[in-house]
Amino acid sequence: MQGNESIGNINLCSQVCRKSLSGCLVGPDKGFYNGGVTNNSTQIDSNLVVSQIQAFARELGFSQIGVASVDLSSAETGLLAWLQQGFHGDMAYMASHGLKRARPTELVPGTLSIITARMDYLPRATSDGWQTVEIARLSQPPEGIVSIYARGRDYHKVLRNRLQQLSDRVAFLIGPFGHRVFTDSAPVLEAELAARSGQGWRGKHTLLLNREAGSLFFLGEIYVDVSLPVSDPVQAHCGTCTACIDVCPTRAIVAPHRLDARRCISYLTIEHAGAIPLEFREPMGNRIYGCDDCQLVCPWNKFAQRSVLPDFDPREGMSGQQLVVLFEWTEAEFLKRTEGSPIRRIGFDRWQRNIAVALGNALRQGVDVTAALRRYADHPSALVREHVLWALAQNM
Ligand code: SF4
Ligand code: SF4
Repeated sequence: MQGNESIGNINLCSQVCRKSLSGCLVGPDKGFYNGGVTNNSTQIDSNLVVSQIQAFARELGFSQIGVASVDLSSAETGLLAWLQQGFHGDMAYMASHGLKRARPTELVPGTLSIITARMDYLPRATSDGWQTVEIARLSQPPEGIVSIYARGRDYHKVLRNRLQQLSDRVAFLIGPFGHRVFTDSAPVLEAELAARSGQGWRGKHTLLLNREAGSLFFLGEIYVDVSLPVSDPVQAHCGTCTACIDVCPTRAIVAPHRLDARRCISYLTIEHAGAIPLEFREPMGNRIYGCDDCQLVCPWNKFAQRSVLPDFDPREGMSGQQLVVLFEWTEAEFLKRTEGSPIRRIGFDRWQRNIAVALGNALRQGVDVTAALRRYADHPSALVREHVLWALAQNM
């Protein structure tokens, strides 16, 4: 995801801020937030500060800003139960941080508020009826499916960079303040914080849903040592719908709002380092990185918004590519083609492991991919080799 500086308007930053400072916000003669302490000589309208942050954020490609309180104590019971049931699989970092995820002030001492940010990621050129197109692709065994969010630039890089730019602008507006930006990068209860700050509600698939944007967006946070007015949460709108639960190929949504990550194809293809359990290989179908099924069937995603950034446009080979072509990539080619992409994070062996499973599923459905698989029957990686041999055995 190469940065799109045409949207960021970095060079306009100081102009935007000066304009604000000359207005009704905090100017040099009106006092600053400084290290989280409001200058007592001046009453600062924090609602106006939030409005200005929202305006900055829109210029940086974010769709919505909210403010959450640091009190997540009511989420602790659910988090502990999820961990105790082992639903996090081998994502050991989830357990090792324990309740720090639900205690923002333990993660970043001095935090008084959390600014939450939402950024839509549906690629710019996405046609209407994209859900139907994506669902149809799942019935094309020779094609490898990469989750929509991962077809472009690594969102970690995009969001972190833009959250930092947003923080810089806020500092210019209110003065120096303590802050730390996060996006899927630390023990942060992202969806919970977003839900509490009015960004949407938790769908039965556990992702956040927004009435105007569905669920195809990234989340990020800025922990700040400034007290800001908390945004109102919104009501849930899933009603009696169970489409996401019913469609899940591996039955990973074990109950409304409860996901067993160990069964989820997103987890298995991305986070899970070892062999993919046999029971999940056939349900994986042709999904080689992530899974969008529960989002594709969600009625609210007819409102999913296209990104204003080019960063999430699909790169060559990441959409509509044949499995045998992807399987031929050398490690050097994999590293080159996935530079700046989230896919690079899983490494070459996991990438080939996933493709081998999809090729096995294609073979079972009568697509002759035997030659491509045989080439790797003595693959130097024991992990890949085992999956290739499993795939060859699907030729019934
Ligand atoms: S991402 Fe796929 S496997 Fe995971 S819960 Fe959703 S539908 Fe199920
Ligand atoms: S598919 Fe239905 S139940 Fe699932 S998140 Fe969407 S609206 Fe809620």
